[in-house]
Amino acid sequence: VRLVSFGSPGAEQAGVHDEKGILPLADLLSSFGLRPDDMNAVLGLWSHLGRDVAAALETDQVRIDPATVRLGPPVPHPNNIIGVGRNYKDGPNAGELPQPVLFTKPTTALNGPEDAIVRPAQTETLDYEAELAVVIGRGGRHISRSQAAAHIAGYTVANDVTVPDLMFPGHVDNPGDLEALGLQPLLGKGFDTFAPTGPWVLTADEVSDVKQLEIYLSVNGEERQRGSVRNLVWDVETIVEEVSGAMTLQPGDIILTGTPPGIGWMMDPPRFLEIGDTIEITVDQIGTIRSRVEGPS
Ligand code: MG
Repeated sequence: VRLVSFGSPGAEQAGVHDEKGILPLADLLSSFGLRPDDMNAVLGLWSHLGRDVAAALETDQVRIDPATVRLGPPVPHPNNIIGVGRNYKDGPNAGELPQPVLFTKPTTALNGPEDAIVRPAQTETLDYEAELAVVIGRGGRHISRSQAAAHIAGYTVANDVTVPDLMFPGHVDNPGDLEALGLQPLLGKGFDTFAPTGPWVLTADEVSDVKQLEIYLSVNGEERQRGSVRNLVWDVETIVEEVSGAMTLQPGDIILTGTPPGIGWMMDPPRFLEIGDTIEITVDQIGTIRSRVEGPS
């Protein structure tokens, strides 16, 4: 099942997307006393709601034509967005680390699958990171690797948009010495529009083997990133175990699992995103998100 949020920014409603269009979940949610925008509840209760949603999809209830509405971030109000760094064996800064590099992105950074990414006035070094994102269903703390699958509601496509020169403040003068320079992940990854996700949450039952998924990113049609989830240093189950060892995971939480090779600022010479560029990210089986870069208004 493809779970979507549709409507204007800040006022999205939950729905299901199939070949006939978008079926709003408002009626179903209200029968459970839930608000029409409560995607977190849909995900947290999915083991119960899934059957009802499947039944609703079998009816001839009127669908909304997807061409007539904006898709928002499929989970518009997660409690946390967690990122994992250095997580591809063949990816940026790959190396032998004792545990995953974890950070959070503010929920205000969320962006719909076709919304523009705004390059901040503070920088001209904007970069992309194509990522598979895990979406949490049932929450929990201290979730073991072997229990992790029961807590994953599904998967979505994400762009962990980054400003390297704000993230690594001294990098421009000391390109060889990242570790000594400190990290500013909130500034480097936290601006509004820096977390495009979508186009939907594909429920986990539709993904036969997450390790088989391939990720592609292009800028203006030129392929820049290509990777395979099988090259994760820490697989999705291990990430859930590590993150939930530190903090309570809640329904709707989003975990970005890291980016494969090909990010712009690691190229020689670096290639940054320009205003007007279009970034397209596809994860096999899940779908494609497409963002245009705009300047600050
Ligand atoms: Mg990343």
